[in-house]
Amino acid sequence: MATAFASSTDTHDREDVLEELADGVYALTAGGDPNVGAIEGEDFVVCFDARATPLMARRWIDRLRRHTDKPIRHLVLSHYHAVRTLGASAFEAQNIIAHTETGRLIAERGRQDWDSEFARLPRLFKGHEEIPGLTRPTLTFADHLSIDLGGDRGTLELSWLGRGHTSGDIVAWLPRHRILFAGDLVENGSAVYTGDAYHREWITTTLDRVDRLGPDVLVGGRGHVARSAAEAGAAIASTRAFVSTLLRTVEGVLRRGGSPRDAYQAATEELAPAYGHLPVFRHVMVFDTQRAWEELVGEQPRVWTAARDREVWDHMTG
Ligand SMILES: [Zn+2]
Repeated sequence: MATAFASSTDTHDREDVLEELADGVYALTAGGDPNVGAIEGEDFVVCFDARATPLMARRWIDRLRRHTDKPIRHLVLSHYHAVRTLGASAFEAQNIIAHTETGRLIAERGRQDWDSEFARLPRLFKGHEEIPGLTRPTLTFADHLSIDLGGDRGTLELSWLGRGHTSGDIVAWLPRHRILFAGDLVENGSAVYTGDAYHREWITTTLDRVDRLGPDVLVGGRGHVARSAAEAGAAIASTRAFVSTLLRTVEGVLRRGGSPRDAYQAATEELAPAYGHLPVFRHVMVFDTQRAWEELVGEQPRVWTAARDREVWDHMTG
């Protein structure tokens, strides 16, 4: 029997939960759907990630408006994926900030990624007809960007810590509160998408650097907020274990002369006991295995198109 493609048959809406993590620091988590955040400055707001459409973004901004009416000056994009970027117009932000790689990837493959993610996760794209086009960052950086929050609110530190989930993921760190918005570099209670990833670098240097920050509170790309240093450490460890198990299993199949399809079956079997019950597990395994295979044979992440998605899916699961 054919397996339903990606999350195309998942129509069950998750409930958004807004949490105030410290004075003026907010996270909106959504039962395994992509998380977003906001940080209040003295007379402005910084938002972290945009959601998939202006409509979905407005639902978040409306919630945020019960806490603050300050204008949104900066919208920070953790990486280039459509579900993180295409709601940007709703924020009416002065600046859209991202890593230089994110700007490059949006220009190079943003349109294909839009079509790909829309077909994979249609539920997240409510009001998609309103998306004005691709989101282009207006301010990009390569390593580090510090935002002074004004008053005695300290700074928000945006950093690129190495390649991981994509080549351009950044994290947002509030040293004063030791709160980290990690984007999709860390998931907490969700399977991990690696279809554009650099697995080896992610599980070594990049996650080492994330870990070294030592957050007391961590908001990952998906899943609930980690509310203690121990829980944050566990989320980082669980993400690392997922990606390393995936890579090791795919490498084993490759070495034995197996096929990507064999690798998909082996990796699914290997990861299911610990991660099989978590959001998007069935969805991600096909794309994760394909990308891990490509990395092991020395290829860069290829563009996912809606057509390539289906082809790889049918091949692996058929
Ligand atoms: Zn992503």
